[in-house]
Amino acid sequence: MLNAKLALASHSDHQTIVKLSEQVAFGGSELVIIGGPCTVESRLQMETVAQELQRAPVQALRGGVYKPRTSPYAFQGPGLEGLEILSAVRERYNIPVVTEVMSIAQIDSIVAHADMLQVGSRNMQNFDLLKALGQVEKPILLKRGLAATIEEFVMAAEYIMSHGNSQVVLCERGIRSFDNYTRNVLDLGAVVALKQLTHLPVIVDPSHAVGKRELVAPLARAAVACGADGLIIECHPEPEKSVSDARQALSLEDMVDLVQSLQPVAAAVGRQISQSLRVPQLAVAS
Ligand code: PEP
Ligand code: MN
Repeated sequence: MLNAKLALASHSDHQTIVKLSEQVAFGGSELVIIGGPCTVESRLQMETVAQELQRAPVQALRGGVYKPRTSPYAFQGPGLEGLEILSAVRERYNIPVVTEVMSIAQIDSIVAHADMLQVGSRNMQNFDLLKALGQVEKPILLKRGLAATIEEFVMAAEYIMSHGNSQVVLCERGIRSFDNYTRNVLDLGAVVALKQLTHLPVIVDPSHAVGKRELVAPLARAAVACGADGLIIECHPEPEKSVSDARQALSLEDMVDLVQSLQPVAAAVGRQISQSLRVPQLAVAS
């Protein structure tokens, strides 16, 4: 494997723990489940997600505010207004939030509002962005490029780490192949390989991998079975009305059921999902 120095496992039992908050960390025996919509659409939407997913429970919320859309005419995300929604919900529900960073210019405002910065697939080899994220004192969720090899993926993590930030979590989210029945092909072999090759936590995004909601839950269970340290899954109060990635969004009820269904799988591989219910600091959203 190339000349990675920092990301590779030097001895088999060392595992980096990436802390997301006082209560939540990737890479320990507890799995980290991140749920939420593809895009932040409104305060009410995010309040509903946070409220309902306490029952799952999930350990973190997701929601894009800067969206890498294939078409320049598609909604590009709510920007700063969305970041303010994320940080309000994070405060009210005492739950960490993850959101995507697409450019160096966005870093400071995202750092001020979120707990973890996601590098999307389309930016996995945006080396200037990776270098800049090396200077950030927040964990980075690095998604595998649309057609990146395992080696390229590890070297992208190496960029962030070699510039000073060792808090990197890898995310397998499917790779392009010839068959478009599923949006991508979920590469669980890569999850196993990355767990062996590196000391970094590895999570799986089955939503973008398959692109169809009815395929998400079985693959989420398979990911946990093969050693993933967590999951990031798209869900929405009204999935069909999602402004982006509607076809793969789970309902909040299905998300709660999915997380519950992970319990026996997690137990079978010596992992746990925190069952503690979070009490919101205030009553339901106004
Ligand atoms: C997303 O998480 O909404 C996203 C755009 O993911 P990816 O970069 O994996 O396509
Ligand atoms: Mn999405």
